[in-house]
Amino acid sequence: MKTFEELGIDSRVLKAISEMGFEKPMPVQEAVIPVLLEMDTDLVALAQTGTGKTAAFGLPLIQKIDKESSFTQALILCPTRELCMQIANDIKDYTKYIDNFRVIPVYGGASIDNQIKQLSRGVHIIVATPGRMLDLMRRGKINLSKLKYVVFDEADEMLDMGFQDDMNSILEETPKEKNTLLFSATMPVEIEKIARGYMDHPVEITVGTRNSGSENVKHYYYLSQARQRYLVLKRIADFYPDIYAIIFCRTRAETQEVADQLIKDGYNADALHGDLSQLQRDNVMNKFRLRNLQMLVATDVAARGLDVDDLTHVINYNLPDEIEQYTHRSGRTGRADKSGISIAILNLREKHKVKQLERSLGKTFKYAKIPSGKEVCEKQLFHMINKMETVVVNEEEINKFLPVINQKLDWLSKEELIKRFVSVEFNRFINYYRNAPDLNVEERHDSSGEPRRGGEEFVRLFINIGKIDGIAPQNLIGLVNDVMHVRDMRIGRIEILNTFSFFEVDANYLEQLLTAFKNDVKYQSRKVSIEVANKKTDRGGGGRDRDRGFGGGDRKRSDRRSDGGSTRDSGSRERSYGGGSSRDAGSERGYGGGSSRDSGSERSYGGGTGKKKEFKKDTKSDFRDKDKGKPKKKRW
Ligand code: AMP
Repeated sequence: MKTFEELGIDSRVLKAISEMGFEKPMPVQEAVIPVLLEMDTDLVALAQTGTGKTAAFGLPLIQKIDKESSFTQALILCPTRELCMQIANDIKDYTKYIDNFRVIPVYGGASIDNQIKQLSRGVHIIVATPGRMLDLMRRGKINLSKLKYVVFDEADEMLDMGFQDDMNSILEETPKEKNTLLFSATMPVEIEKIARGYMDHPVEITVGTRNSGSENVKHYYYLSQARQRYLVLKRIADFYPDIYAIIFCRTRAETQEVADQLIKDGYNADALHGDLSQLQRDNVMNKFRLRNLQMLVATDVAARGLDVDDLTHVINYNLPDEIEQYTHRSGRTGRADKSGISIAILNLREKHKVKQLERSLGKTFKYAKIPSGKEVCEKQLFHMINKMETVVVNEEEINKFLPVINQKLDWLSKEELIKRFVSVEFNRFINYYRNAPDLNVEERHDSSGEPRRGGEEFVRLFINIGKIDGIAPQNLIGLVNDVMHVRDMRIGRIEILNTFSFFEVDANYLEQLLTAFKNDVKYQSRKVSIEVANKKTDRGGGGRDRDRGFGGGDRKRSDRRSDGGSTRDSGSRERSYGGGSSRDAGSERGYGGGSSRDSGSERSYGGGTGKKKEFKKDTKSDFRDKDKGKPKKKRW
């Protein structure tokens, strides 16, 4: 392996990067830097985020730019404002010892006038988001006549966010005699099209396998019931006390709900999604970067701007709609030569997606058992012991109390002392997890050995009509079918109560159903609304409806359910455990103490009482300058 010096990096840049801790080139740098330094060529490099791409193209560009000229010679396009700022900052760091080197980030959502003012003073490298760049070009505020390089960083993300037309327009207006460099984590056909259409015999460099995730990431999947996803997440958080993770959800509502629930349960978590203002998003990202947050619950779009190197885990609370998105998610861990774990929480019906992921990434996914309560306790116990061993003792402060403490504990042997100190914390976990259910679901096989589809993936819903509206189970089924126009959606148990009812539906159709019922659905001229049932609604709304006469006709099953023996009930018990890993906040989270659920203050997870849920996908339009169509991506 060559050193940066051997690759031909300028001594001033060498000094700067060695101060940044760059000891040896990363693989993409070793492959790209000599090519760009030695040749004037177009280039396509396939490399994951976090593999050192910025320096791979940044260092040679800095070197090849004529510093005496004040013309813009390189344009770096990237998908988000955050990445834009980060690349510009990295380049500023690399050029710390080069006088008068100018790099400016321009992105949407900030004052264009300020950016114009800065640009007018001359700039060697512009780092831009495509929408804002095009805007500035159309206003005639940018002179690209001497441009030598256009770099597309995270090109696939840009396409994903609908920037294709902008990218094409920008390229059209740049000089013919320039080199185009394209960096992408994946190689969808659209990227190949750009490479063919705008590039001249590009040098192709692949770091790692094509379309594969980082080599340092291990991929695991857990199998549980869909409705127990949140409990599984808590187990994971408790099992890895030092977790530093992004938890990916599919919708903004889900993101907010999972984060709210985690916070309520005492975890150090927050949400990041498109319903937050830019300021709120910046705050959350900063807290996470500084590790003031352990878990960030995010949508794919919102997490794009976030650059964090040392995540321990990426958790797919729900898999993304598009397979390639999984690569982006999991590529957020295992960066900069560190190892990472990507976990997918799946139900039995989603299990087939593992094969698709394996094919797409060329990686093996390992089935892992969701840790049992006992395993969590053990892990927490030894975590605590380790902490005790490595704790920094504040001699000055503690010394003054020690004589009294020693005197008071004088009667205890060393063994007794250890046992007692450890138990102070350990008892909480033991109590907390005493009756914790096994959250794993086993894949069942029929006589041919073929896996059978799981039959219990239902979600229980609350609907605001009941007996007094004259509804019977068959009417309810008819209503759902009319609204949904989906014939193969299974409906499970139905309970018709006086003023409202419950019914179970195939979990795969949940989102579609919730959306369909937002369209002013009426039954006997009464406006109908549905929401995911939670304990409050499930127990008759705390006395809202005392009628426990189950109208579903399956008396036996209802009885069985109400005797507390079902997984659902045991699951609810765990939800009230109130928090998990021994985060340092030191706050009493009351493991196993009073159930927040019972206090009635629990925010309904997966759908709240009296609160309208909006299952909005986090879309590109939140973060980009303009809306554009998005190319079709491979779905499951
Ligand atoms: P990037 O893919 O450019 O976002 O880089 C990912 C992370 O790796 C950033 O924090 C860089 O500062 C860091 N990095 C890049 N190159 C090196 C290197 N040669 N040695 C150590 N760290 C590096």
